[in-house]
Amino acid sequence: MAREIMHDFCTTCRKETSYKLYKRKIHKVIKDKEYEFEITVAKCDECGSDMDIPGLLDKNSDEVDRQYRDAEGLVGIDDIQKLIDIYNIGKAPLSLALGFGEITITRYLLGQIPSKEYSDVIRKALSSPKHMIELLKQNKDKIGDAAYKKAIKAAEEVARLFCVSDKMLLTISYIFEQMREITPLALQKILYYIQGIYIVSYGEPLYEEDCMAWVHGPVYEGVYNLFKDFKYNPIEDDRFAIFKNRFEELSEQEKAVIDLVINTFGKYSGKVLEDITHEESPWKNARMGYEATESSREKISKDEIKKYFSYIAEKFGVRSEDSLNAYIQSFM
Ligand SMILES: [Zn+2]
Repeated sequence: MAREIMHDFCTTCRKETSYKLYKRKIHKVIKDKEYEFEITVAKCDECGSDMDIPGLLDKNSDEVDRQYRDAEGLVGIDDIQKLIDIYNIGKAPLSLALGFGEITITRYLLGQIPSKEYSDVIRKALSSPKHMIELLKQNKDKIGDAAYKKAIKAAEEVARLFCVSDKMLLTISYIFEQMREITPLALQKILYYIQGIYIVSYGEPLYEEDCMAWVHGPVYEGVYNLFKDFKYNPIEDDRFAIFKNRFEELSEQEKAVIDLVINTFGKYSGKVLEDITHEESPWKNARMGYEATESSREKISKDEIKKYFSYIAEKFGVRSEDSLNAYIQSFM
C-alpha cells in the first residue's frame, strides 16, 4: 500500500526532511504504580532523531490517558458525556445525584481522571437505569425540582427499554465483547443455550427471565424489545455502549459457560440455531397446538429447559466444546 510521505522541519538536520511514525513503549509511574504505555513518535528519515510534529503531543497524551483508564478499568470522558445525554441531566445536578461534589463531573469532563470508586459509581449509573432512578430519588432535594423531573423522566424511559435482569445485561455485555458480530436472532439462541447449559451444570438458572416459544424459536422478550430495530442485521449501535465492560461483574464460572456456548453454538448463524431449537422438545412442547407460523406467547419453563439439557448432558455432555459440537453435529 502506497504511503503518503510526510515532511516537517528537523531541528537536528536544520532543514525540511521526511519522517515516519513509529510506536514506542514508555514507562510511567502514576500513583506509585508503574505502567507501560504505547505512544507514537516521528523519526527523521535522515538523522533518526525524534521530531516534534504538530498535534502529536496531544494525540499521545490522549492515548496515554485512554490506556491508563483501560488498565485501571476507569470510565472515559465519553462515558460521562453519555451519562449526561442518556439521563438528560446537567453537570451539576448529575454530580449531586451521584453523591459527588457539585463540580466533580465538570472536572472529569475537562480531563481529570476519576478514582476507581467514583468511576464505578458512574459506570453503575450508566449501565443501570434502575439504579440511576434510585440515586435521583435519594438526592432529589439537592438536585432541584426542574432538573429532577427532567432526569427522572429520561431515566424511566431508559429503564423501560432496559427491562431485563442485571444478569442478562451482564451476559449480553460479555457476548458483545467476545463476538464481533451478532444478529438479534443469533443472540436469542445463544442466550437460550447459555441458560440451558448453566441450569444443568449448576442446578440454577443464570438469569431469572423465562423465554417464550415464538415462531422463530425461544425468545427472551425484554431482549427482543431492546434490539428489534436491527431486524435481521447485526447489532451495532452506540446506544449499547451502556453494556461496555459490565461483564467484569460476572464470575469465572458464569463466563466459562458463556465462552463454551460462544465457541460452539456461536459459530452458527441465527437461522441454523433456530432450526436446531425447532427440533428440541422445550420449544416443540410449548408450541403444541400452534401452527408453524402462528404467534404464541407460551412460556418455556425453566424446568422444561432443565429436563431437556439434562438429556443433552447425559447423551453428549455439556462441559466441553467437543461434547457440544457433537450435539450440534447430530442435527447436520
Ligand atoms: Zn534530521
